[in-house]
Amino acid sequence: TTAPPSTATTFHHHPNPDARSDEERERLVAAPAFGTVFTDHMARVTWTAGAGWADHRVVPYGPLSLDPAAAVLHYGQEVFEGLKAYRHADGSVWTFRPEANATRFAASAHRLALPQLPVEDFLTSIETLVAVDSAWVPGGDETSLYLRPFMFASETFLGVRPTREAEYVLIASPVGPYFPGGVKPVSIWVVRDFHRAGPGGTGYAKCGGNYAASLLPQQQAQAHGCDQVCFLDAATGTELEELGGMNVFVVAADGSVSTPALTGSILEGVTRDSVLTLLREAGREVTERGITLAEVRDGLVSGAVAEVFACGTAAVVTPIGRLASDDFDLPVGDGGTGPVTAAVRAQLTDIQYGRAQDHHGWMHRL
Ligand code: PMP
Repeated sequence: TTAPPSTATTFHHHPNPDARSDEERERLVAAPAFGTVFTDHMARVTWTAGAGWADHRVVPYGPLSLDPAAAVLHYGQEVFEGLKAYRHADGSVWTFRPEANATRFAASAHRLALPQLPVEDFLTSIETLVAVDSAWVPGGDETSLYLRPFMFASETFLGVRPTREAEYVLIASPVGPYFPGGVKPVSIWVVRDFHRAGPGGTGYAKCGGNYAASLLPQQQAQAHGCDQVCFLDAATGTELEELGGMNVFVVAADGSVSTPALTGSILEGVTRDSVLTLLREAGREVTERGITLAEVRDGLVSGAVAEVFACGTAAVVTPIGRLASDDFDLPVGDGGTGPVTAAVRAQLTDIQYGRAQDHHGWMHRL
């Protein structure tokens, strides 16, 4: 699916009369806990079946007013995205492959029978909001401004059918380094009782319902002493899919790398795609294929599997140091960060923070 052409609209700016002082903002940006601090403004666009996308605006950040019968509150017709704005050493601010998020947002919207926001409006909303709230983009090591675009069914109607009214909203949140003490390997619980998505379902869409369904398995992972959950495919229950919020990669002892193929039930990660590109360019043999849990488990025992890592916007590339399930509990390598994981993480963050040349045209200056 492709998003409709641009409506080429500028966002009308309504400044926040209660914007926080420089001092207060600096205090808030200095050490934010993830997802708790938000900038002074948000971008909004309203869609109706009759008029299409209209009223592009940047307004003071604040609560939304919803009728209790708003469709999203009952049937979960909602999609979202996640990307970051990075401050480079010269003070300039950049996003990483935002068109990829715009395209995925449109694909998610299509799957949820929501209207597709034109790619250009998605990009313009980011440019405008980050320009207005640019002082909120932190400048410290591995910090960023996390951008959360989302869209929901706002029509007041309890019938089960696609909404005739929707709201697109973009909010922004300064975030500190994901691993403040340096990169730390995580432990993963492979869940057998639950699946995240099935064939023909919404796995490839970034919709709230997928995350709601992942919370109970995530709770079980934590009850087993693990940091995060890994899902298996629903059709056979044998192949690795992804974590609750990250894609997964397996590095073999011979240096070749594999990651689950895009079957429709996993999210097409922007980081996943970028990691594939970087590994291929480094001359590695890289395959997208079905990877069975049995293969990984046996490989960890025999030494045929050297490294396992997860990747996504929030934590970039995260080493997995331990893999466990009902019937096994195994360290990955020596439980630390493997060399392939460390190298691709450094390569990617160097591009994002402007420390390395962007040969791919991935960075988008704001
Ligand atoms: N899988 C899931 C389920 C996710 O929520 C995310 C985060 N968006 C990812 C993978 C990684 O995607 P990306 O690299 O685009 O952040």
